[in-house]
Amino acid sequence: MNVLARGTNHPGNLALLPFSNLQKLREERPLMFVRGQGIYTFDEQGKDYIEAVSTFYCVNLGFSDEELIEAAVQQLRALPMYPSGIHRTVPVVMELAERLAAVAPVRGGHVMFATTGSEANDQLVKFTWYANRVAGEPKRRKIISRRASYHGGTIATTALGGSAALQEAFGIPTGDSLFVSHPTWPIGALPDETETAYTDRLVEELRQTIEEAGPETVAAFIAEPVSVSSGMFPPPEGYFAKIKALLDGYGIRLYADEVVTGFGRTGKMWGSETLGIEPDCISCAKGLSGAYQPISAVVMSDDFYSRLEEGANAAGIFNHGGTYGGHPVSAAVAIKVLDIYERRNILGHVQSVMPVWQKALASLEDHPLVTATRCFGMAGAVQIAPPGEGKPAAASPSLAPGGLSQQLYMAGLAAGVVVRPLQGCVVLSPPLIITEAEIGELTRRLRLALDATLAALPR
Ligand code: PMP
Repeated sequence: MNVLARGTNHPGNLALLPFSNLQKLREERPLMFVRGQGIYTFDEQGKDYIEAVSTFYCVNLGFSDEELIEAAVQQLRALPMYPSGIHRTVPVVMELAERLAAVAPVRGGHVMFATTGSEANDQLVKFTWYANRVAGEPKRRKIISRRASYHGGTIATTALGGSAALQEAFGIPTGDSLFVSHPTWPIGALPDETETAYTDRLVEELRQTIEEAGPETVAAFIAEPVSVSSGMFPPPEGYFAKIKALLDGYGIRLYADEVVTGFGRTGKMWGSETLGIEPDCISCAKGLSGAYQPISAVVMSDDFYSRLEEGANAAGIFNHGGTYGGHPVSAAVAIKVLDIYERRNILGHVQSVMPVWQKALASLEDHPLVTATRCFGMAGAVQIAPPGEGKPAAASPSLAPGGLSQQLYMAGLAAGVVVRPLQGCVVLSPPLIITEAEIGELTRRLRLALDATLAALPR
């Protein structure tokens, strides 16, 4: 059926597509994908695209994994749905909780499932307020995050995200949020500032923020170990260790948002492992099921969990949940993902292709549009500026696509490679199963897109 020719009253697409230009949606048929194979997707015309950002940082095992499909089908046949709640669940949910807790970077972890990364982080906020009320500290509600971070699209998680424009646009209440700078070493450093001095300055900013807010009102600090979607700036040396020490001194919890960094993106299973972070709680989603089914989770420390236990109401009930939290089909797929990571040694593969990936990205630095590349694990960013403008002082990361990077994104689509445009750069996080040869092809297509973008610049 032609979705753009439904009837005279609705000449356009009726689906409000996220993060899209609504006027354009009325007038133009969106790009539609119909099939996927490995790291490739195919549009309606059969044109192939390398999904260099794993779509939304999620399809870590590629698109056509028969084992994942089979795991879903088996569970659909056996019991397509049974909600977890009121002392009822399904074996796959129990098994997944055990398997996830065993590998998660939280000691003595307890697991609560949800459906999306946003919901997991939202849950984390809600549980935090609850736990602190139980602990007799109801005023300890504020959560600190970093500017230009993204933790989700619910009301509570939009308030945590570092985009003031987004919060204002939707009138999001942000009274319980505090923001500090996002590290952007080395471009955010002062002239002659050493890496250690830069780290110390950020930690001092955090300390001042806590002091000004009143330490007794601050509940937690949430950060991605490394934020790909904010332009991929790995933290400077010592950043998390110093932050953790500071937070511990105030009794403030550290939460790691592992929604993107979980499941191998940084070279180890968790970004927290790669960066030596010891979080009190983590959230994860996306890669948990290879994105074949919606599922997310919060993994919380035993200490945190015991507060939830203590706070149960007079009937002993913890009153939170949802119909699809820990959907059986999603849980069955996620178990299969963990099997695949072990059996196919996905992390070993990542370790072996990481140097090739890093070299491939660096090889783009000779392009006239490219001012720098950044790489961490199997993610990266290509910083761009019109030739002759020199290296731009790309001071702070941003979630907004900029003019030139938007043009590069469009040129990428034409060249068959999908990147994510931000202000001054495009970011990349290809499926982790990518081979050396495919990295070569991705880089070739990206260079074609850079050439086309350069050629289209006004002279
Ligand atoms: N946290 C981070 C770091 C993310 O990048 C995202 C989404 N890109 C989310 C949370 C929200 O996840 P979801 O889109 O599944 O709600």
